[in-house]
Amino acid sequence: MNDKNNEALALFEQGYDKILEGLDVLGYQVNDDANFAGTAARAAKGLGQLMRDKQEVKTEVEEMLTKTFPAKYKDMVISKHNVAFGVCPHHLLPVVYRISVAYIPTSKVLGISKLSRLAKLLARAPMLQEDLTHELSRILYEDLQSDGSGTYIEGLHMCMASRGAGAHETRVVTSAMRGAFLDQMSTRQEFIKLVTASHPNLI
Ligand SMILES: [Zn+2]
Repeated sequence: MNDKNNEALALFEQGYDKILEGLDVLGYQVNDDANFAGTAARAAKGLGQLMRDKQEVKTEVEEMLTKTFPAKYKDMVISKHNVAFGVCPHHLLPVVYRISVAYIPTSKVLGISKLSRLAKLLARAPMLQEDLTHELSRILYEDLQSDGSGTYIEGLHMCMASRGAGAHETRVVTSAMRGAFLDQMSTRQEFIKLVTASHPNLI
């Protein structure tokens, strides 16, 4: 936990104190109800887990990409259905993602757990699902220096599900292809087919 994290958490807590004042206005008597004791600090901590420090994330990603192994395998590697959490920048409400990422290695492969870690780590930001999709594909293509990458994300957005549109069944689907996934229709199709195959643990 660095100084920036502590500063952000203190500001988050101040914000939640104001939210509690608003709840008091709505008649919830938060000062007399023990359930609200310490809520601002707890909520700030929770939010802090959903929004990581940008520079810290960048450094962690760079470190992750250094942990590669030499490989002769030159076909598609897919890590599918990684459940990850983030928040949307428009409402700061939670988003539950199911993220599938893939790449075609040149001479090196990433440790397979790194793909899951990468997806979950990148999601923890107030970021549009569209931008998250592009960023994952960019990292797996440009930074990893692969032959191509694909990202496919289904998002359950609480801002849509619990308010406004009330679209609680809707999943927002985004995909981004780079390199061979963009140039070769068969590679793209193989990826989409494999990651959209039915799975018992749907979010
Ligand atoms: Zn939203």
